[in-house]
Amino acid sequence: MKRREFLRRSMAFPLLGLRAQNRPQVVAGQPEFDLLLTGARVIDPSQSLDRNTDVAISGGRVAVIESGVAPQRAKRHLDLRGCLVTPGLIDLHVHGFRGVSQAGVDLDTYCIGRGVTTAVDAGTSGADSFAGFRRQVIAPSTTRVLAFLNISRIGLISSLGELVDRRMIDREAALQCCLEHADAIVGIKVRCSSFYSGPNDLEAVRTARSVGEAIGKPLMVHVGWPHTPAEQLFEELRPGDIVTHAFRGAGEGGVIGADGRVSEHVRRAAKRGVLFDLGHGSGSFSFAAVEAALKQDFPPSSISSDIHSASVLGPAFDMLTTMSKLLMLGMPLASVIERSTSLPAHAIQRGHTLGSLAPGRPADASVLQLVSGKFFLTDSKRESRVASEKLVAVLALRDGKVHAE
Ligand SMILES: [Zn+2]
Repeated sequence: MKRREFLRRSMAFPLLGLRAQNRPQVVAGQPEFDLLLTGARVIDPSQSLDRNTDVAISGGRVAVIESGVAPQRAKRHLDLRGCLVTPGLIDLHVHGFRGVSQAGVDLDTYCIGRGVTTAVDAGTSGADSFAGFRRQVIAPSTTRVLAFLNISRIGLISSLGELVDRRMIDREAALQCCLEHADAIVGIKVRCSSFYSGPNDLEAVRTARSVGEAIGKPLMVHVGWPHTPAEQLFEELRPGDIVTHAFRGAGEGGVIGADGRVSEHVRRAAKRGVLFDLGHGSGSFSFAAVEAALKQDFPPSSISSDIHSASVLGPAFDMLTTMSKLLMLGMPLASVIERSTSLPAHAIQRGHTLGSLAPGRPADASVLQLVSGKFFLTDSKRESRVASEKLVAVLALRDGKVHAE
């Protein structure tokens, strides 16, 4: 169902009486909660929670999760029968900086506008442009935006290859930038592919690792037809480092080798604690590879869309479409949610604040529906399949504030 059609049909849905019924209740005394969400199925893998219950929010934080909270106890009440409430979705791999980077898209349109509360930019900017990224993307966005800094000084300003000229690999510039923007930078990004890095991928990974060690944060390494064999690149990675685009076609440098099996060097790296992220994008989600990996008990450690200017109009579209593809391939809903909330939160060392609706946490939440129908979903190999269910966004909350108002 197209989004517009979904919204039109939703007009008949009880949820859509929201505006009228959500005026603050007039009761004696001061209501103890700012907002109360009732009637939804709450799925929070960080708390092993999956049941119909109520979520109360106060001061921008989750106050309580319990059933039967009286609406009068809150200034505002949203009746969410028929919906799912999850911790705010985290998309671990996106590209903002629209108009400055050829890859950049408007993050509020494709993230919080589509149910994602935290977007992690995957190296769109490097040390030479990060101050601008902060001013133009992080500061004004309604979406919570964090970032991996590109080890290339120029980041993804142009599509011509940010590491082809090895002068762009600058440890000191990257380190200074990370120290200056420590609150926003969650790690270092490197793209390893002959086209983007020429013969310099190994030097870039080693330099990025040196910066990562100095700041105590992970690397995110893009693999896809690298100059240096993936096996050798993975040996450079530390526990907690992330390989993205890991579920590309067999034999393309991801987890599935040319023989259709999860490669031994991948299993060795995973055993050491290296993470393998999906990173859909335009070229990096093969249904066959994910199916093979699931059969061999090697699911993606996180699900991410890699939305950029050449993937938001398909095949990736957005995070929820990407998540729906995992559902279609047989991953249980709770597992899909976990790989889109608590696991990516831990991957960026924010597991103590994000990815959970535990009381006391910032009240970032995604309100979704799992709708039934016939949905054509396409992977990066342009293979289409028909799904019978799809996740769609209803609304999103950041710090307890409802987006779309
Ligand atoms: Zn990307």
